[in-house]
Amino acid sequence: MSGFPEFIYRNDELFIESVPLKQIAEKFGTPCYVYSRNALTQAYQEFDSAFADRNHLICYAVKANSNIAILNLLARLGSGFDIVSGGELQRVIRAGGDPHKTVFSGVGKTIDEMKMALDIGILCFNVESEAELVALNHVANSMGKIAPVSLRVNPDVDAKTHPYISTGLKENKFGVPSDEAMRIYQSAHAYPHVRFSGLDCHIGSQLTELTPFMQASNKLLDLLNTVQSAGLTITHLDLGGGLGIRYRNESPPSIKEYVSALCASTQSVSQRLLIEPGRSLIGNAGILLTRVGYLKHTPARNFAIVDAAMNDLMRPALYDAYHDILPVIKDMQATTNYQIVGPVCETGDFLGHDRNLHLAQGDLLAVMSAGAYGMSMSSNYNTRPRAAEVMVDGSITHLIRRRETTEQLIGSECLLP
Ligand SMILES: *Cc1c(COP(=O)(O)O)cnc(C)c1O
Repeated sequence: MSGFPEFIYRNDELFIESVPLKQIAEKFGTPCYVYSRNALTQAYQEFDSAFADRNHLICYAVKANSNIAILNLLARLGSGFDIVSGGELQRVIRAGGDPHKTVFSGVGKTIDEMKMALDIGILCFNVESEAELVALNHVANSMGKIAPVSLRVNPDVDAKTHPYISTGLKENKFGVPSDEAMRIYQSAHAYPHVRFSGLDCHIGSQLTELTPFMQASNKLLDLLNTVQSAGLTITHLDLGGGLGIRYRNESPPSIKEYVSALCASTQSVSQRLLIEPGRSLIGNAGILLTRVGYLKHTPARNFAIVDAAMNDLMRPALYDAYHDILPVIKDMQATTNYQIVGPVCETGDFLGHDRNLHLAQGDLLAVMSAGAYGMSMSSNYNTRPRAAEVMVDGSITHLIRRRETTEQLIGSECLLP
């Protein structure tokens, strides 16, 4: 057992669906992100069916993993999208996603991004400040359009997650405080080129308890009451994303428990429910496959230097995040305590600390739970071309992103005359 449903040991060899990971490493090289189509499909369908008959829209948070094959797969399943840039909007369109199912979040939308989104005709702008609202009203006017808007409310609840991914506290940069949101909705007439169609919040990521979600949804319902009595027609409530996954020993609520709780807490209202899950859809559907380059034994520690690094998977360096690291070929020999590190010139360049493994040069390792905020956060630090991405579907492998070339990295730079 690997503990991850689509990643299974058969005769001590790790498979993804019906494909040995070793075969993927041989065919596509390492480092390589590998995703299970089945795991992603199942997670989406769990969300969708948990809503049962409730009028709802699942807007996948594109930033979690923005590969167009993944967006396309979700679009085919009926998913909408939550974007945070014009670039992500272009990805959604390229992937065949429906702009009418797309919401646009983020604190710093530019005028050009607003124009693009208005032109394409998205479902809603999740507006995060009064200044942004003023700008959007102006842009919509200049285009002769009405911009659909939901204010992102900062409900001031503690998501009890890592401070870097906590977004719903009053000291965070996201959203507007409830009383200010109320004031803005009440002065809706000041924004004639905007239609206030929703209410929105997103309190953070990797939440492992339901309580903060319930607190946020209650705050949104309070606000909904007041906003409606002010005469506005609110057609949807967007409860954001943030459901956590199991990386190690966390026990987050299941998708079904989470969605059921959201439905229950909003059962008194008839508005369409939107959610914006990212990590909980793709996180445990993907791994980072890497090969051991060198073993290095020092008096203080043992290092396994692998060909993936912090530029490929930033979460350990950025959040001190834990990822399980599994051998692709298991054996029963005595283990050694290793620091699993990459080739990048930073002490923060590690994938895992103190892992007990039996390793030899050339061995393959699977860094688990790497589907979300892995590839999408990768960089070219140390002039390292980004990894390839592969999607497995049963016994078939599809290359969904070619490994980057050094020429692609250097090609857009120019020498001085
Ligand atoms: C990042 C983000 C999400 C997705 O969060 P997950 O924890 O990956 O589910 C949803 N909505 C907004 C506004 C976000 O910024």
